Amino acid sequence: MTDRPRILHGQGDWEEPNGPRGSQAADPPLYPTPELLDDLKQWSDRLEAAKPEEILTWAVERFGDKFTMATAFGPEGMVILDMLSRISPSTYVFNLDTGYQFKETLELRDKVLERYGIAVDLLTPEHTVEEYESIHGGPLYKTNPNQCCFDRKLKVLSNAALGRHAWASAIRRDQSPDRARAPIIGWDRKFHLVKISPLANWTKKLVWNRIFDRSIPYNPLHDQDYKSIGCWPCTRATADGEDERAGRWSGTEKKECGLHTDEEPPQAPINPNL
Ligand code: SF4
Repeated sequence: MTDRPRILHGQGDWEEPNGPRGSQAADPPLYPTPELLDDLKQWSDRLEAAKPEEILTWAVERFGDKFTMATAFGPEGMVILDMLSRISPSTYVFNLDTGYQFKETLELRDKVLERYGIAVDLLTPEHTVEEYESIHGGPLYKTNPNQCCFDRKLKVLSNAALGRHAWASAIRRDQSPDRARAPIIGWDRKFHLVKISPLANWTKKLVWNRIFDRSIPYNPLHDQDYKSIGCWPCTRATADGEDERAGRWSGTEKKECGLHTDEEPPQAPINPNL
């Protein structure tokens, strides 16, 4: 394994750790050898037409307590939580609590605990919102949202990935061009984990049908025309006919926080102010 270069972000106060990342830090570690990648590809192809419950069952059997799930409490995540509650309720589930989430989003954590007995861990960034805005002379989401997402989401997920082998995401292929290529099972180069997307083949309609069929709790903001919900400063309600993710970072070129784009490990964005 080669040492990773020191990567400074805008303010020069963070450096990419040289130590093992993601599954490299697990016991036993997991490395993306050609054999592993080939095996994952074969399983992904085999599970392409499987039900999400079958895919999750495979993940739990294969990775055990080294399988984890990240959720932003979106409708897809709530559907997976409902499935996991029946397949493996002890799975470690976490939320990237940026400090900018809607209160309605955070209230879902309590509803999940009450309904399923699953205590979703709220993982926070290094600095509180107050500290962060003080360091940067104001809210960075206004001037450099890529840096803000990097500091408050990607770095936190990188830490959560340490010692795990695999994580589940709730993305659907029809959500965006970036997500359209997502395999059911693949290697996540960014977080150094196996990434499992049990709902990759599902549609929004299937997700909402499941929510209503099983009375799964969901964010009440969806009833107020918020189709996709992230942090409150970067989310707006959308009008009929607008794209599902049109309300995210509206008015900017940014479409993704960076968690689900297929890139090399988290790299700090260039700070245009330097
Ligand atoms: Fe910051 Fe907005 Fe990204 Fe949340 S979505 S981390 S507020 S830039």
